[in-house]
Amino acid sequence: MVPRVIFGQGSFSQLGEILLPKRKNADAPFIFLIDDYFESRELVSQVPLMFNDKIIFVSADEEPKTAQVDALVTLIKDEYDELPSGIIGIGGGTLLDLAKAVAILLNNKGIAENYQGWDLVNKPALYHVGVPTISGTGAEVSRTTVLLGPEKKLGINSDFTTYDQVLLDPDLTKTVPKEQWFFTGMDCYIHCVESLTGTYLNAFSKSYGEKAMELCKDVFLGDISGEESRDKLMMASWHGGMSIAYSQVGIAHAMSYGLSYLLGIKHGIGNCMVFQHLEEFYPEGVALFRKMVEKHDIKLPKNVCSNLTQNDFDVMVNVALGLEALWENALGKEWKTIMTPERLQAMYQKI
Ligand code: NAD
Ligand code: ZN
Repeated sequence: MVPRVIFGQGSFSQLGEILLPKRKNADAPFIFLIDDYFESRELVSQVPLMFNDKIIFVSADEEPKTAQVDALVTLIKDEYDELPSGIIGIGGGTLLDLAKAVAILLNNKGIAENYQGWDLVNKPALYHVGVPTISGTGAEVSRTTVLLGPEKKLGINSDFTTYDQVLLDPDLTKTVPKEQWFFTGMDCYIHCVESLTGTYLNAFSKSYGEKAMELCKDVFLGDISGEESRDKLMMASWHGGMSIAYSQVGIAHAMSYGLSYLLGIKHGIGNCMVFQHLEEFYPEGVALFRKMVEKHDIKLPKNVCSNLTQNDFDVMVNVALGLEALWENALGKEWKTIMTPERLQAMYQKI
């Protein structure tokens, strides 16, 4: 679990205070990895830079890659004689995941792809702080950093991945465009559905999942807006992340990983494109999802898989079926008899 968290509108102004006691010395900088959306925005002037601290702006147009993590680690090691005092990730799931991975790789030998999997990290990461600027993924609270590698899209899942400190300032999400707000918010909603209906469910996950679900319903189907809505979605993301931390996601995530690997379709929208077709597995969840799509007048892309080759389908099906825990959570221990490659391909063909 994240050991330290602060929450509140305007709390970003406390980042300097939080970092000060963690500064090793004047030569060990803090490195801020910030979504390049903020490059010419006010937030940059509020970043508490001291000594030789550095801001690196990173585009979130593509999901984080193992090679990108390795390049950032090399850049930081080449520029400074000492290891940094810490890494601060500011942005959505993309930046939050990148910052976690960079913090791990700065203190562990080798390259990022070696650590994709479960509990392969040997040494603690550098001190790292997460500051979400869009709500939904739960990346701020999870013990994974999802990376696209040369062979697979898979997280670095470890106890050292989790942030040492998270700063939740709902004001930072004010500028998120509506469609992106919806897609990333639906990531949280789908986490709840997949966790709450899964065979891995337990009282720990259920308590967080139910709270996140209630908050999602308020945000996406209730009549709240503005501050209240931003506050609630930020807490929904947190609880949704906590829920899957002790259970698993399911079919939408497995299939969305395949779409992302082959076609570069991003996580939030990819989940939505898949989830709308999963009523036979998640009848109540999909019915509610459709209401949310309608209420917010969201148009999802169509016929995305219509021109794919058999080889393309094979790749996606392999990536998706490789995520065994997700299928077992969704369909039980005998999932292989239920979800055959042929059936999965037919499901992809609907998207
Ligand atoms: P994102 O980080 O990819 O950002 C989406 C878009 O929103 C980008 O264009 C970004 O620039 C913009 N944006 C972010 N904050 C903004 C703001 N305040 N104002 C205006 N624009 C803003 O989106 P995401 O959906 O949060 O993250 C997706 C990533 O999260 C994927 O890479 C996925 O694999 C990962 N993920 C990780 C976990 C985890 O547990 N580690 C869980 C789910 C998803
Ligand atoms: Zn997700």
